[in-house]
Amino acid sequence: MAESITLDLEQSFGALNECVLVTNPDRIIVYANEAVARLLRVERGDLVGTRTKRFFADPAEFEEIGELYRSPEDPQARKKAYAFEVIRSDGTTTSVEVVNAPIFNSTDILSGFLFVVRDISERKALEKKLSDVALTLEDALEAISEGFAIFDSDDRLIICNDNYRDIYTHSTAAIVPGSRFEDILRFGLNSSQYNTGGLSDDEWIGQRLEKHRKADGSVIEQNLADGRWLRISETRTRSGGTAGIRADITELKEARARAESAYKNLSLMADNVSASITEIDLEGLCVFINKTGCEWFDGSPEELIGTSLRDRLPWKEREVLRPIFRQALLGQKVASEVSLNFPDGVRRECHLDCNPRVNDQGDVEGLVVLVNDITDRKKTEQTLAELYAITSTRELCHEEKIAEILSLGCEHFELPFGIISDIDEDRYTLTHTHAPEGELVPGTTFPLGDTYCALTLQANGPIATANAAQSEFAQHPCYELFALETYIGAPLLIDGVPHGTINFSAPEPRKRDFTAAEIQIVRQFADWIGHEIARQRDHQALMDAKINLERVASIDDLTQVLNRRAFLERANTEIQRFRRSKQPFTAVMLDIDNFKQINDQFGHAAGDEVLARFSRSISNALRAVDVFGRVGGEEFCLILHETQENEALLVCERLRRKILTDLQMEQIEQTITCSMGLAVAAREDIEFSTLMQKADTALYQAKASGRNKCVIFGSEPAPTTD
Ligand code: GH3
Ligand code: MG
Ligand code: MG
Repeated sequence: MAESITLDLEQSFGALNECVLVTNPDRIIVYANEAVARLLRVERGDLVGTRTKRFFADPAEFEEIGELYRSPEDPQARKKAYAFEVIRSDGTTTSVEVVNAPIFNSTDILSGFLFVVRDISERKALEKKLSDVALTLEDALEAISEGFAIFDSDDRLIICNDNYRDIYTHSTAAIVPGSRFEDILRFGLNSSQYNTGGLSDDEWIGQRLEKHRKADGSVIEQNLADGRWLRISETRTRSGGTAGIRADITELKEARARAESAYKNLSLMADNVSASITEIDLEGLCVFINKTGCEWFDGSPEELIGTSLRDRLPWKEREVLRPIFRQALLGQKVASEVSLNFPDGVRRECHLDCNPRVNDQGDVEGLVVLVNDITDRKKTEQTLAELYAITSTRELCHEEKIAEILSLGCEHFELPFGIISDIDEDRYTLTHTHAPEGELVPGTTFPLGDTYCALTLQANGPIATANAAQSEFAQHPCYELFALETYIGAPLLIDGVPHGTINFSAPEPRKRDFTAAEIQIVRQFADWIGHEIARQRDHQALMDAKINLERVASIDDLTQVLNRRAFLERANTEIQRFRRSKQPFTAVMLDIDNFKQINDQFGHAAGDEVLARFSRSISNALRAVDVFGRVGGEEFCLILHETQENEALLVCERLRRKILTDLQMEQIEQTITCSMGLAVAAREDIEFSTLMQKADTALYQAKASGRNKCVIFGSEPAPTTD
């Protein structure tokens, strides 16, 4: 191309802002204005004489433009605006649009093309943005998990998402752009889409349209015929239409209903347990308190919630609780036993459970405090331990044990009177009593029918009343007679047979009803007392048998005086006492005179009768302290307690004479006499046998000197005086 043409081009296009590029038929650049150089970020000098191919991002585009050169006359190709991406010399890309004009020389031969290149990157970016926005809007609508619909100011549907159509499954045929809101509603009603809750279709539509027209953002809850619940919120659009969002809240509603009923059940439960249940927040203020808690803290929920329950306790107890609460606030579950004085005036032994309430993030948000009253349990344990100690000790006798048990019962039940009674036929006798002033005297009797005991026996188990006036006890004569408002008692069974009752009582009503544990305690008491009495009875029977046995073993059958063995035992005791006290006593040997003859003459039976009468006569004349026994066939021995020689002789003489009269018997015609030998205990008589020997010697002397006389050992026999 001629130099002059290039100059002309430069004159025409050099300063243009539009890019102008001229190529020859071989697609070699012959001219590029400054704007092209700027666009492609090259020196103009580097452009002229080069091909444009290197600037095409897509080689196919380069080939497409090549069509121009092959058929320059094709009007289609000429009109075409080519748009493609170019690569600049620095590697960046930009979008361009190219329009062309073929250049012919004077002989109408194609001498090249003139291209005007426009940078369309900004337009492209804008277009992309717009398409992105359109996509985003659609996507956004579908991304909404709720049903979404927009109606125009004519109340016709403009747009809605799939969720909206999915919610109203029976109305989908009506949900098309352009449908009127009211028509969609009516269509739904006809296809049983809604639960109108008993309203007529017109009423229901009227109410629904009224809210729809307001579109004030307020929440409408709509019930569908299949039971689902929707939450609808409608707002006004800028163009005067409405935009509505529908959320399926069926599960939410169910969960809410479940939570409400669970909360109700929980409160009901909380109000029916004997423990105090409270919840406190991090500041120590009460947020929940159950019925028992209200009783103990002496206030209504309104008075107590929002206040510090701990501050209502005495300061000492607050100190005790402080470390427990502190530990629980660190997230640890703490259990502890404490004794607390509550605002209702009652001291309780408490089992405390402090449970931290933790949120989803694991932070402690408050404490749930469970307090169980274990006063009774503790008291019961203690009383049972004491009962066991009393009944198992060997240091107390039966009577002391009974007294201790009665006193323990009065202390346990906090009642002034404790009674153990015995029933005989229809008599009621107090056998053991515990009363502050000793008002109740053992041995006092009442007709059984008038007593609480009769009721206890009737019940055949423990009975109790903490307020007799309000109970069936008030109908019974015992109530009027004894005026006891509080009574707890149980039958005493001994070897399964009713024996009486154990009971505890007071003239005043008791603050609290008797608990099951207390009923158990009184039953336990009755059991123990029953065992105690049975054991005592067995013991007594054993003792009686033993005494009887001893008596049988020591008494001579025929004469009913001590036999030889028993007499010698007593005699030994006497000699030991003598050795200690030095108070002398006298031993006397007695022997019936010519007894063999009596036997021979009147028979053995008569002889036996003589022996029996003789013993009786002597026994009757003696003091309780004297000891008399049969030591041989018709030989007897007598110990005159602390009696000296002269006095002993007087006694013996009196006995000898008494025999003369007492032993006169019809069938025996002769006078029966006896002889006696006396010996006073002396220092050398360490054994009774030596003293007895002396008395026997004296007896021999009496016999030898004529019988029917008393002779003292070591002295001459005196003549008989009668
Ligand atoms: P003396 O005056 O010297 O004592 O003469 P006595 O006959 O009383 O004494 P002796 O020792 O010769 O006789 C005692 C008699 O007592 C002999 C015995 O048969 C009799 N005798 C012993 N025990 C019983 C008894 O239990 N019943 C009867 N009926 N007689 C008895
Ligand atoms: Mg004799
Ligand atoms: Mg004899």
